[in-house]
Amino acid sequence: MALSVFDLFKIGVGPSSSHTVAPMRAAYRFVEVLQQRRDLEKVKQIKIYLYGSLSSTGIGHATDKATLLGLMGNDPETINISASDLTLERDLKSKILKIAGIHPIPFDVNQDMLFIDEALPYHPNAMKIIALDQQDNEVYANTYYSIGGGFILDESHIDQGSFIEDKTQIPYPFQSAKELLALCKKHQCSISHLMLENEKSWRTETEIRAKIIEIWHVMQACIQSGLQHDGILAGGLNVKRRAKSIHQRLLRKEHTNLIATTFNAMEWVNLFALAVNEENAAGGRVVTAPTNGAAGIIPAVLSYYVNFSEDESEETIVKFFLSAAAVGILCKLNASISGAEVGCQGEVGSACAMASAGLAEILNGTPDQVEHAAEIGLEHNLGLTCDPVGGLVQIPCIERNAIAAVKAINAAQMALNGDGQHYVSLDKVIQTMKETGKDMSDKYKETSKGGLAVNSIEC
Ligand code: SF4
Repeated sequence: MALSVFDLFKIGVGPSSSHTVAPMRAAYRFVEVLQQRRDLEKVKQIKIYLYGSLSSTGIGHATDKATLLGLMGNDPETINISASDLTLERDLKSKILKIAGIHPIPFDVNQDMLFIDEALPYHPNAMKIIALDQQDNEVYANTYYSIGGGFILDESHIDQGSFIEDKTQIPYPFQSAKELLALCKKHQCSISHLMLENEKSWRTETEIRAKIIEIWHVMQACIQSGLQHDGILAGGLNVKRRAKSIHQRLLRKEHTNLIATTFNAMEWVNLFALAVNEENAAGGRVVTAPTNGAAGIIPAVLSYYVNFSEDESEETIVKFFLSAAAVGILCKLNASISGAEVGCQGEVGSACAMASAGLAEILNGTPDQVEHAAEIGLEHNLGLTCDPVGGLVQIPCIERNAIAAVKAINAAQMALNGDGQHYVSLDKVIQTMKETGKDMSDKYKETSKGGLAVNSIEC
């Protein structure tokens, strides 16, 4: 089983990796198959069924819109967000869906897209797409599972485990943090160096570096876009975008004493995270890191470092992403990064651990210290539930990213103050996250049926 840094960091659109990016990707793949089989022309009708969490919070997470955009031939990485939104709006009004952007069929979203209030056995996030011909015969059908972080799995692959197995042979395979640390020790190298050697199994070093820098640039553009927009986020909760006004206030501020300076640094971290997550909630261009709901933590922590150290060298950026990805891989392999599977601990907790590890690495932490930083980052997110109000990725998600980004910096700092030795290992915390997620009621797993989603609604 091999996972790449680019499985953890993917360019996509908001507001959710599992409920927006993955459904768009699944629908896009569905259309690709129709075209490969030369069946597109036969299709006269499409039926879409959304199950479990995709049904419960699908409207708030824009699953409906994302699925239709995918069927229209849009891929999350390359979609022109504003232009395609306009096309979709126009087509839905005239009850037409242009499959692959070229094949129009009648489509009534109220009749042809069904939200089913039950989960399929394999995974809480499931969707089925059926293409029918003029005589109502099935042309092609498939069921897709959105398994977190934008990963999808179709019916034919569920026997392969939690995701499609990549059989690439990497030089330094690891399944646990213990194995990762042993490899670093044996080869006298850092976590980022070991990850880089593994990544070379898929791409050249030049390509890896270029792709990481591209991802960093998209994150920075997302922050900048978040700093330029204000107003109210769509969805009905009337959540005000704050990043722009906080930014303007911070630019005017002068600090003269230690407490103010400390607060100042923290305010910038908060700001970067808020900017990304407001942009995500608005359906903008974001990088899943490792999910969209938790997309603000890693850019906020790296932006904090870059801004306050003035070190934005390629080497630093690349090391940060590689070591963060090593921790994300461990969370994905041994527990989950999906809020629908294990609650928010899997999304925000994993992102916090990844950011802590990245920061500890670029601050010259030893592999033991980096593992400790990740462990602290994840341990103090254990049990975190997913209860988005109104099914929107706004409350508690936006602020939660800011809090976790600050926590990640604190975790790295605590780990760097030690020698890497500690009581609870990262492996044990990941195992605990998995078991806690199993015991967690479905109410707290991205269904908006419990917690803040229920208690904060005023009658
Ligand atoms: S509460 Fe956490 S897991 Fe749930 S949607 Fe928000 S960020 Fe994602």
